[in-house]
Amino acid sequence: MTHYDVDLFVIGAGSGGVRAARTAAGLGVRVAIAENRYLGGTCVNVGCVPKKLFVYASHFREDFIAAKGFGWSLNTPEFDWSHLLAQKNQEITRLQGVYEGLLNNSGVTLMEGQAHLLDAHTISIGERKISCERILIATGGWPSVPDIPGKEWVVTSNEMFALSTLPKRILIVGGGYIAVEFAGIMHGMGVATTLCYRGDKLLRGFDEDVRGFVAEEMQKKGIEILFNTQISSIEKIGTSFLACTDENEQLEFDLILYATGRKPNIDGLGLETLGVELDAKGAIKVNEDYQTNIPSLFALGDVTNRINLTPVATAEAMALVNGLYTDQSTPVDYDNIPTAVFSQPNIGTVGLTENEAKNRYPDIDVYKSVFKPMKHTLSGLDEKTLMKMIVRRSTDKVLGIHMVGSDAGEIIQGMAVAIRAGATKAIFDSTIGIHPTAAEEFVTMRNPVD
Ligand code: FAD
Ligand code: NDP
Repeated sequence: MTHYDVDLFVIGAGSGGVRAARTAAGLGVRVAIAENRYLGGTCVNVGCVPKKLFVYASHFREDFIAAKGFGWSLNTPEFDWSHLLAQKNQEITRLQGVYEGLLNNSGVTLMEGQAHLLDAHTISIGERKISCERILIATGGWPSVPDIPGKEWVVTSNEMFALSTLPKRILIVGGGYIAVEFAGIMHGMGVATTLCYRGDKLLRGFDEDVRGFVAEEMQKKGIEILFNTQISSIEKIGTSFLACTDENEQLEFDLILYATGRKPNIDGLGLETLGVELDAKGAIKVNEDYQTNIPSLFALGDVTNRINLTPVATAEAMALVNGLYTDQSTPVDYDNIPTAVFSQPNIGTVGLTENEAKNRYPDIDVYKSVFKPMKHTLSGLDEKTLMKMIVRRSTDKVLGIHMVGSDAGEIIQGMAVAIRAGATKAIFDSTIGIHPTAAEEFVTMRNPVD
């Protein structure tokens, strides 16, 4: 029998890698993990966590305005970016420590450095070589910027978490999660914000009503959105940047953020020497057991570019470890995965969009409600909430729930449980509401709109 240094070698201590490593080690598996940048990966360091802290920070601007409508008087509030950065960095350092503790306490060997595959059972890190029975690649993704003249002048989401100063004017290119979230963050922090998207509706793949509604709410708050616009080149002029559009218009900004998607992070891994199969976008191809075409090599999370969310990466890690090292099977169900965009207002969504449902079934009822939330009757703010339910008439099953409004992410998490449990519209209708909340609207929508 071959003797290996470790049973499982995990490359990448991000959301998926850490969960896989510590769960496997907890089962008595001999595990090592390599990390070349930061413990906790994208989510902890340059993703979900600092992003959400920035969303909270930026929302105070509106909260101060709203407070006046409720009788509070305030001196002019001032925002200190460097204070926020220091606070954010302190929290991230704390979380990195938590991750280190989780790995150490579960007996995982942590190795700092860039891991490289030498063969199907050998990893190198610097001068060290480690033999392993199995290897898990959980190296995540990296921002991708189109190849245009002047691309060296732009920043990506990575740099947004460490800007030395806030710009006065920002251009954000893209119309996906990151572009929409950072538009809200920058605007809330007092930066004149322009969003430039190549299509005519933000957030491809989301429900059409949600896509239109969130853009209108963002525009009402003062974010400028340029639809159907591409940037063809960027020039640096002194301390500012000129973006030239495909219509030959020149727009001047202090900072340009490209949020044009992410690519699988596979550079320097040595996949080509092993002949690991990739898809057209460079993502590692795996079967339903997360196994690549090399039997000892597995991959999960963003590097496989399926549904690129932290809870999906951690669920995949649990499924992999249970599949390999226990007699329990916990496959990931990729249907009805809820998601939130922490735009302002938030989007929360689970299940089918109206178009997806109509393409799949002939008998769809749509319930929809647009209203002014109670808070804004006194706040003086003109923010509206959209709620939408998609129901199949013949079975009464709720197929999709979509919301744009305050705390949509928090509200839709509960709705996702109901959808997974197969709730019918009748179950929603017979559920007593919690009054007065926005969420009660989901149990009081009685008449379909078409
Ligand atoms: P990662 O977390 O990216 O971890 C990969 C790790 O591997 C990294 O630490 C990297 O340094 C390391 N690594 C790479 N190559 C090597 C190598 N050769 N050797 C050693 N180490 C290596 N998801 C949500 O669910 N909610 C959100 O609100 C959310 N917000 C986001 C905001 C932003 C700005 C971004 C960019 C992403 C956000 N995401 C969010 C997505 C989420 O962060 C990812 O889906 C998740 O981190 C993927 O986990 P992973 O384990 O696949 O990879
Ligand atoms: P997305 O894939 O969500 O959006 C990319 C955007 O860039 C799209 O609008 C796309 O347009 C546009 N785009 C792509 N290529 C070009 C180009 N060459 N020129 C101009 N525009 C272009 O990626 P993000 O970078 O926003 O985020 C990456 C992923 O990270 C998300 O998909 C999500 O999985 C995860 N994430 C999750 C968050 C959350 O859970 N709240 C928050 C942030 C990120 P088009 O649609 O026309 O192709």
